Amino acid sequence: NPLDLVQFCQQLVEDMQFIDNGLHGIELILSQSSLSACMDEKLLRHILTNLLSNALKYSPEGMPIQLELCDRQNLAVFHVKDRGIGIPSQDLPRLFEPFQRCRNVGKISGTGMGLAIVKKCVEIHGGEISVQSEVSNGERPGGTTLTVILPRFPMNNLTPSLNGQVLEICRGKRAED
Ligand code: ATP
Ligand code: MG
Repeated sequence: NPLDLVQFCQQLVEDMQFIDNGLHGIELILSQSSLSACMDEKLLRHILTNLLSNALKYSPEGMPIQLELCDRQNLAVFHVKDRGIGIPSQDLPRLFEPFQRCRNVGKISGTGMGLAIVKKCVEIHGGEISVQSEVSNGERPGGTTLTVILPRFPMNNLTPSLNGQVLEICRGKRAED
């Protein structure tokens, strides 16, 4: 049975706000009132809670973060956006490898496994993850956006690589219109 991604995100944001104890504030940006998808709810929760936890962990207190959900044809697009410490460009190429921690983490603790596992979960869904980031320095505020694109109706009997091709086909459709 399909999942309503809008409802799912609303509940998730509420749960994460509670866990964060009101330190940051999480804005949910939606472009519609419902969006159905056939996805593994636990896997999706794992993906988004990890990205939101990172956004909270690597942002100063009081700096709100955002979760944006949009619909592109048969794809669900999630953006997790923060205005935190940012990721140095030299660390970007290996960001999704196990045990990688960036040079600017300072005293913020972690194992460096979160994103490696998230990437696997996204791939199991036949989706893609990408990152865009700017390091903050004295005068210039930085921030990070993680983008996850998942087919809303993946064919579960297909291998991840075939689902990847489904993703390409959905993209092609989008290019046509
Ligand atoms: P954990 O396994 O507990 O999640 P972690 O947060 O260190 O530990 P990852 O989630 O895999 O590990 O992230 C890898 C590294 O990427 C982090 O150590 C941090 O340097 C950097 N990073 C991830 N997300 C962000 C973010 N939103 N802003 C800045 N740096 C980030
Ligand atoms: Mg993490």
